[in-house]
Amino acid sequence: MFINGSWQEAKSGRTFESYNPATGELVGSVPAGGALDAKLCIDAAADALPQWSQATAYQRAEFLHKAHSLMMAEFEHIAEVMVKEQGKPVQAARNEVKYGADFLLWYAEEAKRLYGQTIPSARADQRFIVAHHPIGVVGAITPWNYPVSMITRKVAPAIAAGCTIVVKPAEATPLCALAVFDVFDRANFPAGVVNLVTALDPEPVGEVFVDDRRVKKLTFTGSTEVGKLLAQRAAAQIKRVSLELGGHAPFIVCRDADPVHAAKGLALVKFLNTGQACISPNRVYVHNENMEPFINELQKRVEGLQAGSGFTEGVRIGPLINTDALAKIENQVNDALAKGAEVVCGGRRLQENGLERGCFYAPTILKNVTPEMRIYREETFGPVAPIVSYHNEEELLAMANDTHYGLAAYVYTTELKKAFRMFEGLRFGIIGINDINPTSAAAPFGGMQESGLGREGAREGIMEYLETKLGGFSI
Ligand code: ADP
Repeated sequence: MFINGSWQEAKSGRTFESYNPATGELVGSVPAGGALDAKLCIDAAADALPQWSQATAYQRAEFLHKAHSLMMAEFEHIAEVMVKEQGKPVQAARNEVKYGADFLLWYAEEAKRLYGQTIPSARADQRFIVAHHPIGVVGAITPWNYPVSMITRKVAPAIAAGCTIVVKPAEATPLCALAVFDVFDRANFPAGVVNLVTALDPEPVGEVFVDDRRVKKLTFTGSTEVGKLLAQRAAAQIKRVSLELGGHAPFIVCRDADPVHAAKGLALVKFLNTGQACISPNRVYVHNENMEPFINELQKRVEGLQAGSGFTEGVRIGPLINTDALAKIENQVNDALAKGAEVVCGGRRLQENGLERGCFYAPTILKNVTPEMRIYREETFGPVAPIVSYHNEEELLAMANDTHYGLAAYVYTTELKKAFRMFEGLRFGIIGINDINPTSAAAPFGGMQESGLGREGAREGIMEYLETKLGGFSI
């Protein structure tokens, strides 16, 4: 673990292993931190806070620039660790490392633009000044599906804002977190500015983050279930929270859309990271007149997706993260089939040619999916595209919005008027109109409703780590 500027074992002396989900092989072993280690991280972050928060934005930016250059220089190595530990194909891992590095660069620059404002007063003697000050020590909990970029997406804006931070990465991908912190170590951040506690059992560390009064802000990416628990507990201190939780993205192919183009888009975005993404399409609404050409094109593309080790040339489908994930998908597909859905392709675990050693599920298309099926409402987090046929565009918005989630939505249309109607009517935080990748360090990412609170990336992302302070001066 990285605590107060040095690499340390857990106080308990315990360790835990990280395994390759494609092969079941051991990848490495890391300290199994607990509450005591989390406290030490918070001690370090609290001690470092006064100096770091008073450093100039230019000084903070310099460290972030350095971290960005080091991460780019190391990107092949970090991508390799990710393939071994998380399973995604190497090209996708490279893309993620670059996306992760983008946050370091973007917030190095944004640190210099934390403008306040002056407000005219009704009193001649009064001046109002609004300034933004760092919140303080931040506790961050990150997931395994994007194990590098979800760390930098929190760390970069937090430290650019003048906060100090303690990160607890997911237990499935601690080595990716170590690789990122190796970059921070070499960027020579002052001791205590960035700290890492790895843990097999996340609960005691999470409890310290929410209960310790020195932690002023909790930022979490993970399941809605755990996000709710943490937010409830953080409420006892009215602790600031940012939550990036689950999703259930509609993917809409309008009557006027080109079904072949839309199928190409779905085949790319649905199977990215083997469907293990919170913005992955979960309900695909296709106008019945487009259904045949859409399914034909989709099937052709999905049947061409090769599953295997992320290091094998041409592989697009990596393993699921573990056997629980596999079981969840099998249950959802079985439930859908029992209720009348049909398998177009896939629909089974992959167990040939050595794949039985890992958690592989065939890229799958289900058609005739209806609202009674669990897959229509539960987040899938796997390579299954559930296709729903519709004919009345008037009812589309209500159908697409019929979820407690509200993260991403995708629409294919060639009509400008419809594009605006959809953009304005969909109750989701991120809308891709003929666009399957509406994400960037420069753009605000986050969800409505039970998909979360707050935004990451963009100016919004740094505001999450700042308090607004009003000064009234009588002169
Ligand atoms: P997923 O289903 O994607 O694994 P989780 O919400 O379980 O989502 O995990 C996301 C992150 O939350 C991980 O870092 C995990 O260790 C952490 N986590 C899970 N349960 C808790 C908990 N009770 N308290 C604090 N952190 C937790």
